[in-house]
Amino acid sequence: MTRPQDLAGWQALATQLKTRLESRAWINDAFVDAESGATFDTINPATGEVLASVASCDAADADKAVAHARAAFASGEWSRLAPGQRKKVMLKLADLMEQHRDELALLDTLDMGKPVTSSLGDMAGAIGCIRYQAECIDKLYGEVAPTGQDSLALVLREPLGVVASIVPWNFPLMMTAWKIGPALAAGNSVILKPSEKSPLSALRLAQLAQEAGIPKGVFQVLPGFGHTVGKALALSMDVNCLAFTGSTGVGKQLMQYAGQSNLKRVYLECGGKSPNLVFADCRDLDKVARHAAEAIFHNQGEVCIAGSRLLVENSVREAFVDKVLQAAESMQPGDPLDPQSFMGAIVDRTQYERILDYIRKGVEEGARLRSGGEALEGPGLFIQPTIFDGVNDDMTIGREEIFGPVLSVFGFDSEDEAIAMANDSDYGLAAGLWSQDIDRIMRVTRRLESGQVFVNNWAGGDQTVPFGGVKQSGNGRDKSHHSLEEYSELKSVWMALTTAL
Ligand code: NAD
Repeated sequence: MTRPQDLAGWQALATQLKTRLESRAWINDAFVDAESGATFDTINPATGEVLASVASCDAADADKAVAHARAAFASGEWSRLAPGQRKKVMLKLADLMEQHRDELALLDTLDMGKPVTSSLGDMAGAIGCIRYQAECIDKLYGEVAPTGQDSLALVLREPLGVVASIVPWNFPLMMTAWKIGPALAAGNSVILKPSEKSPLSALRLAQLAQEAGIPKGVFQVLPGFGHTVGKALALSMDVNCLAFTGSTGVGKQLMQYAGQSNLKRVYLECGGKSPNLVFADCRDLDKVARHAAEAIFHNQGEVCIAGSRLLVENSVREAFVDKVLQAAESMQPGDPLDPQSFMGAIVDRTQYERILDYIRKGVEEGARLRSGGEALEGPGLFIQPTIFDGVNDDMTIGREEIFGPVLSVFGFDSEDEAIAMANDSDYGLAAGLWSQDIDRIMRVTRRLESGQVFVNNWAGGDQTVPFGGVKQSGNGRDKSHHSLEEYSELKSVWMALTTAL
């Protein structure tokens, strides 16, 4: 089928798709209702339309899925399958995702409001991740330790067992792929809990995983709320690892659940308040301004690495902020199904009210509102790109993660001041740095407390580089072959030999 090229084309595809949405849990190779029969509505935030009543899993469903996952792991059908064979199945899954790319993208757009062009980009990331991890798994070797000749010591890598992946709604399928790609490639059984705000693409993925040949019980999907099914997975005595992407607050809870239960491994990818540093020596301030606006307004600002703190050298600040305002003009929200829309709808009413509250606080605390600040009229949840200048560290909008289209601009006079301001945060997920001076670039990069630094770009990266944070942005690393390390144990084998020389 050819990809729709315009609003009417995507609307037509959406109308078809809405007649065949799967909304039940995927447990042991079958779609089933929650044990309790409970459901919750998933709503299109661009229109207010209820898309589906989705199975609301809780502890009973978690227990059932964990038992199936454990049995599948013990069977060895996947966990002991030769890596080259696992690779083949996962490559088939990636091919199926590619084949259904428009449909998967559309599910995320309908469910959480992001523009469809943006969802298509996410699909490229998701498919690329599954392929990369599949390709890695038959190229990783164990070790022979450098012992004496009366022994042979091997360091083996083995899968962990049952991995529970708990993911957010802002990049539903891409965050899912970043977790399940390496976990499945390493031979684990995986239980996915999608966000209650965006469960639909994960359920479609389950069908594709079955079609690709992932064995029964190896990949299961439990839709539902964090405090019910998410918590049950986190407290389970038979889950070996929690792979989480979401807020710092919930990440802290998960560490406690692990301590209260079986000391399962906990990998966290949490929030951010990322600084974007613009030095006056930049060659093309127009281009930098456009990137600075995209860094915050892409995906409606609902991005963990959103460049939400723009730190600009005071000598160019006035002129630079004018350029950012101009760039933001073309980034207004629109119908997510229209390929021309740069921003879409905010995920739900709670998040929408939260963002508007932050905007009110910004004004009350004395920041200078330079543009936006308003919601659009209508049933959809749309907020204008909003820019505050004259923000300082004492203001709420300067410190807390807003997770919406709100930019805070700060001024600095020296490199040291810029670094101190950038690092003055509980978070450390990403930082950007714009300058032509290579000495400065390296000096500043080394001193930034951040999991990743983007130099003369924002959000650059591909499957080859790890993604993750420091400080309260988390402790895990998604993507690249390093992510496979998180989903496997080292086993040391010491063999005594009788071959004395
Ligand atoms: P959230 O923490 O509210 O929810 C994330 C997931 O955790 C959801 O599936 C939710 O149902 C589940 N959950 C909630 N409470 C739980 C509990 N008590 N036990 C178990 N599971 C629970 O976050 P969100 O609103 O979905 O996503 C936004 C947050 O995610 C932002 O802070 C953002 O920065 C962060 N994020 C981080 C990254 C990264 O890679 N670092 C990427 C995307 C999003």
